[in-house]
Amino acid sequence: MDFDVAIIGAGAAGISAARSLKSQGRKVVLIEAGSRIGGRAWTNEIYGLPLDMGCGWLHSAERNPLVDLARAEGLDLVEGRTAWQDQWRDLGFSPHDRKAALEAWSEMSERMEKAPPASDRASDVLDTNGKWNAYCQSLSGYLNGAPLERLSVEDFLAYDRLATQSNWRVREGYGTLLVRSMPAVPLYASCPARKVRLTQSGVRIETVKGAIEAGGVIVTVSTSVLAKGLIEFDPEVDDHLHAAANLPLGLADKLFFDLHGAHGLETETHLLGNPANDKTGSYYIRPLGRPVLEGFFGGPGAIAIENAGILDAFTFALEELTALLGSKIRHHLKPIAASSWCHAEWIHGSYSHALPGRAGDRERLAKPVGDKLFFAGEATSRSDFSTAHGAWESGIRAAREFVQHNPQATVL
Ligand SMILES: Cc1cc2nc3c(=O)[nH]c(=O)nc-3n(C[C@H](O)[C@H](O)[C@H](O)COP(=O)(O)OP(=O)(O)OC[C@H]3O[C@@H](n4cnc5c(N)ncnc54)[C@H](O)[C@@H]3O)c2cc1C
Repeated sequence: MDFDVAIIGAGAAGISAARSLKSQGRKVVLIEAGSRIGGRAWTNEIYGLPLDMGCGWLHSAERNPLVDLARAEGLDLVEGRTAWQDQWRDLGFSPHDRKAALEAWSEMSERMEKAPPASDRASDVLDTNGKWNAYCQSLSGYLNGAPLERLSVEDFLAYDRLATQSNWRVREGYGTLLVRSMPAVPLYASCPARKVRLTQSGVRIETVKGAIEAGGVIVTVSTSVLAKGLIEFDPEVDDHLHAAANLPLGLADKLFFDLHGAHGLETETHLLGNPANDKTGSYYIRPLGRPVLEGFFGGPGAIAIENAGILDAFTFALEELTALLGSKIRHHLKPIAASSWCHAEWIHGSYSHALPGRAGDRERLAKPVGDKLFFAGEATSRSDFSTAHGAWESGIRAAREFVQHNPQATVL
C-alpha cells in the first residue's frame, strides 16, 4: 500500500481534505490532472495584477472558513460592500428601473418560497410577460450559471436561505489563497486518474503515469468530469454518476480589460450592460482600485461568448460599453485576459446547479461508497454548492468520513 488516502483533484475540496487528513497523521497523496493546483480557484498574474479567472469573492464571509485561513496566511482581506447593484451615473438603467427590476427579482424569490411550483422549475414562477424577465434571467445566469428553466427551486432556496450578504475579497487573489493553503503532501500533477477500482484492501487508481494503491480515495472532480465518464469506476458507483449528471455545471466567464488614460471612470463601481438582454455582461469597474474593467457573463451570456470565440466576445463587451459610455471609451480599453471554463479540459464548466426535481441528488453524490470511496467537491454541499468555501467544507466532511470508517492508519 502506497498511501492511506489518495485524493483525486487538487481544487479547494482536494486541498482541504489533504490538510485535514495530514493533520490527523494520515499519509496522503494528491492526484491532479492539470499542471497547476486550485482548479476553479485560479489567480492569473497579468501585468503584475493578480486576476481571479474563477472564484473571487469570499461569500457568506461571516461563516466562510477561508476568511480565517486568509488571515492566518497574512493575506490582505478586503471587506465592505460590493458595487453589483450600482449603475455608474445611472447610465442606461435609471434608479426607478433598477428598483423595479430588483423588486421583480425579490417577488420571484418570494413566490419560490411561498408557492413553489409542483414542477420545481424556477422559470415557472416568472411573471408571465414580466417586464424584467430578461433581467431576472441574467441574474440567474450570474448566480447559477444557468437559466431559470434548468433550475430547481428547492436547490436554489437551499443556498439562498443560508447565504449572507457579506462578500469579501482577498487582494492577492482567491486562487493565491488556495495555493498557499496547500499542505506538504506528495502531489502528482499533470497526472489524470483514469480508473478507480475497489480492491480487497483499499483502492487502486490507474493514472496516466502508472497505478497508485491506497487505503481509500476521495474524489473531488467536477460533476461534468464524472458525468462525462472521464474516470472509470466500478458499477457500485453508477448511482453517484447519475446524481452527478443531474447536477450539471452551469457556465460563467470573465473578460478583463486593461483600463488606461483619462477615461474618467471611478473606482469600485459597476455597469450592467443592458437590463433588457438576458445575455448581457456585468462590468465591474476598477475593482480594488486597479486599472482594470472586469466583465462577468453567466448562463446564456457565457455560452454565447464562449461560442463566439475570444475576439467576438471582447467585441460584444466593447459594444455594450460604448453604448453606455460613448465610443471614446474604446481608446482606454485593451483586452488582456478571458476565461473559458467550458473548455477547461478537466473541469468543463463553472459551478453546479440541480436540475428541476433533482435537489436531493447532492446528498446522493455525497454518500460514501462502502468504506473506501468518498466524494467531495462543491456539488456535494447541500447549501453552499457553487462556491469555494462549500467545496472546502466538503473536503473536510469527506476526510472526517474517511477517518470514521478507517480509524486506523494503514501505512505507518
Ligand atoms: C468564473 C467563476 C467565478 C466564480 N466565482 C466564485 C466566487 O466569487 N466565490 C466562490 O466562492 N466561488 C466562485 N466560483 C466557484 C468556485 O470556484 C468553485 O465552486 C470551487 O472552486 C470548486 O472547487 P472544487 O474543489 O469542488 O472543484 P475544482 O476546483 O474543479 O477542483 C477539481 C480538480 O480536479 C481536477 N481533476 C479533474 N479530473 C481529474 C482527473 N481525472 N484526475 C485528477 N484530477 C482531476 C481538476 O483539474 C481540478 O483541479 C466561481 C467559479 C467560476 C468558474
